[in-house]
Order: sequence, then structure tokens, then C-alpha cells
Amino acid sequence: MSTQMSERLENVYQEIIKRNPGEVEFHQAVREVLESLGPVLVKYPELAEQKIIERIAEPERQIIFRVPWQDDKGEIHINRGFRVEFNSSLGPYKGGLRFHPSVYLGIIKFLGFEQIFKNALTGLPIGGAKGGSDFDPKGKSDNEIMRFCQSFMTELYRHLGEYTDVPAGDIGVGGREIGYMFGQYKRITNRYESGVLTGKGLHYGGSLVRTEATGYGAVYFVSEMLRTKKQSFGGKTCIVSGSGNVAIYTIEKIHELGGKVIACSDSNGVIIDKKGIDLDFVKQIKEVERRRIKAYTEKHSDAIYQPGGKIWDIPCDVAMPCATQNELNGKDAEKLVKNGCVAVGEGANMPTTPEGIRVFLESGILYGPGKATNAGGVATSALEMQQNASRDSWTFEYTEKRLAKIMSNIHELCFETAEEFGTPGNYVNGANIAGFMNVGQAMLSMGLI
Ligand code: GLU
Repeated sequence: MSTQMSERLENVYQEIIKRNPGEVEFHQAVREVLESLGPVLVKYPELAEQKIIERIAEPERQIIFRVPWQDDKGEIHINRGFRVEFNSSLGPYKGGLRFHPSVYLGIIKFLGFEQIFKNALTGLPIGGAKGGSDFDPKGKSDNEIMRFCQSFMTELYRHLGEYTDVPAGDIGVGGREIGYMFGQYKRITNRYESGVLTGKGLHYGGSLVRTEATGYGAVYFVSEMLRTKKQSFGGKTCIVSGSGNVAIYTIEKIHELGGKVIACSDSNGVIIDKKGIDLDFVKQIKEVERRRIKAYTEKHSDAIYQPGGKIWDIPCDVAMPCATQNELNGKDAEKLVKNGCVAVGEGANMPTTPEGIRVFLESGILYGPGKATNAGGVATSALEMQQNASRDSWTFEYTEKRLAKIMSNIHELCFETAEEFGTPGNYVNGANIAGFMNVGQAMLSMGLI
């Protein structure tokens, strides 16, 4: 990736920093996209004349609200809720909700900005948005989670609708939370509006494969990248950071395709199991018991737990960051490349720092950026919306086939766009340019809105 931007784009970027002070993750996400767009503006000057980049970088609407709730002891807590509705030129606002103590406006805006391009790459009719709260679900009882979700939805509901804005999950928001929020939405509005949330349970309008989709999709994308080098996951040693929903189903699909995942992690430490990660046990620890990954050694005494360890120091063929933003820096990237890693595919959103991205691109290894690689989650959300709109539900096999096809289409689009703009093999440019072109053309057609 060139770190140079044309003077015009540099000015646009400086203006965005000035208008959005302190939102460092948002600045980072914007810069990464802008660094790809120079040649696009040369080829399509009307996109510059119509100030499409400036318009995309300014959310259509930003909602910030108070979320009061009571814990089991009766104590009152106040959290902050967010929904940033970034762009609706391709469809209703779409994107997940994140509940994590690190959440502030800058995090939601980086995620919402990325979501615009990711959703555009799927080819499905979904705009871009993101939301969440600085609420920390860790250690909370089920009743506390329910009361928080109900309070959160009591404000958010007025901004949602199947044709307006359709949230889903992200870090800290899974099937349980979506269920509580759907229940509260239904109660307040007196409408059984299935298409207003995705990631729902299978008993009330959810889609098969949605739970697995982000991880499975990421592995499909990496398989496609490997295929361009006549390689596959078969026999490859892999490491997957994280141990939440994305990591779990990334590991599952890698194992299905004949690779071996030897390490995963959480924010406290790293588990290394040279025999291959026992995924059933990880699911038991994380999905059923909701405990920390350290518990893995209770059953596997020969596995190693490294508190505070760095997963990227472990030699591997394929690395898949599936935890959170900026979890892999320049030094980590250098280590991976030096240890012979041939492919990196991002299941998380923006897990690699700009220095890390530079190392990957300069090394020439296969590098799949999150907005392309992890698009399978939101794509399957769009498939859930399709099923809801037609009051239908599809089989697992059919839905997974649709997901696999979407991922291979995204891969092809990114691959060909990178070639067309003179940087073959650069999936960062491919994803940024192809996503931007889809949204930009739609915006041009709709006039100044
Ligand atoms: N949070 C996921 C993402 O980052 C999924 C969003 C959705 O399904 O709407 O794309």
C-alpha cells in the first residue's frame, strides 16, 4: 500500500480529522480507504466533483443516548448508547451492535465507516451503520443483561425498521442479546417485524448459518486466496486469535477443510495445543459456560496457557486475526512473515495496524483485509432479511451454498479490481476501490442527498 496520498485526498483527510477530533480509530479507517482512492478519482473525476468521499465520510445521522439500568442489587448504572447511520444509498442501514467498555463514538464510527464498503462488496441491498454501548457484559447475570438490552432498545426502537435500520450482533452481542432486544422492540411497537434485527434465534425468524457465517465466510475467502497460488488449507498449520463467535467458526471450518489450528486466545492469554484445538471444549467453555479460555487446560493438561502471551509469535502457515481492532502491529506482522506465514485473513474488523498492513503488502504474502474477508456475517444477515421478507426459511445446505458463492464473488471482485487499478494481488486496494465504486455510483445516481 502506498502511504502517499494525492494533495487533494490529503486535504480531505485533514478536514475529516479536524471535524472529528480525538476519534483515532475512525481516522485510521478513513486513511486506509483514502490511500486506495487516488487512481479512482483520476479515472472518474465526477466522483471528486460531486464530493462523494467527503459525503461518505460524514454519517447521514448519529444518535447518542442514555441507557439507565439496575443491577441485581438494585444499584443504578448509566451507560451510553450509540447508533451511527452512515450510508443508505444501497439499502437500509445495516450493521451490528457492540457492547464493550472500550466503545465510544470513534469506535462506532470506524466500524460504521468500514461497514459501508463491506456491505457494498456483498452485492446485496444493505447500507452501512454500526451501534453499541460502553456497557461491559463480562460478569453480568442473565437478568442484568436482559434489563440492559430492554433499556437500550427502549430508546433505539424509534430509529429502526425493516426498511430503515436493521442492527445485528458484534462483540458482546449474540443470540441472547438479540432475543431480548427483539422482544422489547415487538412489545413497544406492537409489530412482529421480523426483518428489524438479524442474528435472531431459529425459533423466531433467525437464519440457519448466521451463527457460523462470519468465521465460515472468512475461511472461504482465504481458501480462494490460496487457490490463486494453487494451494489449499489441507495440511496447513493455523493460528486464530480470539475465542468468540468469529474465532470459533473460523476454527471449525479450517478443521473441516483439513487444516490444523494450534492456538487461540482471549484478552487475558493464549492457548497453544499442538495436537489441534479441541473445538467442542472451546464451545463448552465460551458458548455454554461463558468462562475465560484459560479453562482449556482443565481438560487438556498438555496444552500451554500463556497469560498475556502474543499469539503472533507462534510459527504458522495461515494466521487469522479474529479478536478485535489493532491486535496485530508492525512487529507482529514482521514475525509472522519471517516465520513463513503464507496467508493472513482478517475475521475481525481492522485487526491489523497500518504498519502491519504495510509489512504484509510489501512482503507479497496473501493478505485479506477484514472488510472483504469477514463480509460473510453481514451477507448472511442480508439472507436472513430475504427469508423474513418472503416468510420463508432455507435449509442449512442451501444457505451455506449461498454464503460460499457470495464469498467467492467478493474475492473475484477484489482480485480483479486490484488488477484493473495496477496493483495485482493487493486485496486492500481491491476491496476499498470496489466497495467505494458501488456506493459512489449509487450516490451519483441519486443526486445531492
Ligand atoms: N457485526 C458484523 C460485522 O462486523 C455483522 C453485522 C450484521 O450482520 O449486520 O459485519
